[in-house]
Amino acid sequence: MSRIVFFSIPAYGHTNPTVEVVRQLVRRGHRVRYYSFEEFRAKLEGAGAEFVPCDAFLPPAPRDLGRRMGHDFSSLMAMVIDVTVAMEEKALRELGEFRPDCVVADSICVWGKLYARRLGLPLVCSTTTFAFDQETARAMRPGPLEVFYTLTGLPQIGKRLALLREHGYEVEKLTDLIQNDSETDTIVYTSRAFQPGGEHFGERVAFVGPSLPELPPRTQRRERPLVYVSLGTVMHGNTGFYRACAEGLGDGPWDVLLSVGSPEGAAALGALPPNVRAEARVEQLRVLGEASVFLTHCGMNSVSESIWCGVPMVLAPQQSEEGAVARRAAELGAGLRLERRGPAAIRAAVEEVLAQREAYRRAIAPLAAGFRAAGGAARAAEKIEETIARKTEEARAAPLLFTEFENDRDPPRASVPG
Ligand code: UDP
Repeated sequence: MSRIVFFSIPAYGHTNPTVEVVRQLVRRGHRVRYYSFEEFRAKLEGAGAEFVPCDAFLPPAPRDLGRRMGHDFSSLMAMVIDVTVAMEEKALRELGEFRPDCVVADSICVWGKLYARRLGLPLVCSTTTFAFDQETARAMRPGPLEVFYTLTGLPQIGKRLALLREHGYEVEKLTDLIQNDSETDTIVYTSRAFQPGGEHFGERVAFVGPSLPELPPRTQRRERPLVYVSLGTVMHGNTGFYRACAEGLGDGPWDVLLSVGSPEGAAALGALPPNVRAEARVEQLRVLGEASVFLTHCGMNSVSESIWCGVPMVLAPQQSEEGAVARRAAELGAGLRLERRGPAAIRAAVEEVLAQREAYRRAIAPLAAGFRAAGGAARAAEKIEETIARKTEEARAAPLLFTEFENDRDPPRASVPG
């Protein structure tokens, strides 16, 4: 039995794939502790993790959060660095007491990564987007708003990096904190074939494919095709886009389900055409089990889930990371890019995908097969176990370098140089 600690940021897209990994690890007899946020408590405890809430360490959200969300990477990084510093005392103390055999930290979750490095603990990086290196960085073509926020955010990033250095973390530049390097053991929840430039990532990176729960069986065959629309769980406040969907798809030969992110969002839409329904949130995998087309914002999880379920997509990315996912999905024939966002363009794209649905399904089938062959949550759990075994072996072989645990009552833990 090993003790494993997970850290993630407060986001569904970054937490969802880890839930099944936790379940696998617990089934295999390991003890899992998860530092996360109240919104995810039920899911994580349901999978068997000991839950530790981190909500109290989040800085207050900026007033214009809605506008910045998804576009302002500098503020996101400032936030994660602030949490790193705010939670440091508690987390380092608790890690010292718990003595994990491995830390699994989300790729954006700077605090988990830095605490693990600080204490010389084996680290596995959990990457729910594409693995991020210089090539993927080039594939993400930031829009004007993103460029603006990045440039205006540079001074706050400089200050935060200096703060980290003051706290004893050796960080030179921002990319050191988030880039997937070839040394760190890494889990990526897609296949090597779907990752752009997948062949460039070394053996430390395990492409495990989507980490999903068992799919509920298809309940019924639908009389009319179902068009499912979602902009995900973060940037879902685009009422104008849902209105355009309702207008463009209203009265068509299909049913439409809009997942709009909040009850207020659903109420804001007012009366809808009889074939269009809006929900705050749906069980997406169940819906994809019945859908004929998915009009998606191209979050990595949504696109993976659509491919997994064999559903062709209309691709409507909102920001650069989603743009990279959309380009990859279009390149491999899994969907059609929505070039304009008006009602007529939306209707034309849905009609086109439905008309070509067999061709799309033929392109998606090998991608879905590749996802399944990658092993999912079970392979991710195995990767964590392999990392623990290798690090234990290396620690035995290497000269002891005492870590911050050295004053504990128990014998000191070894860490490996580099
Ligand atoms: N999701 C869901 N119900 C909804 C909308 C989204 O269960 O009504 C889930 C979806 O299945 C996926 C996650 O939320 O696992 C969204 O992650 P993604 O990476 O697609 O986008 P993000 O929300 O991070 O932008």
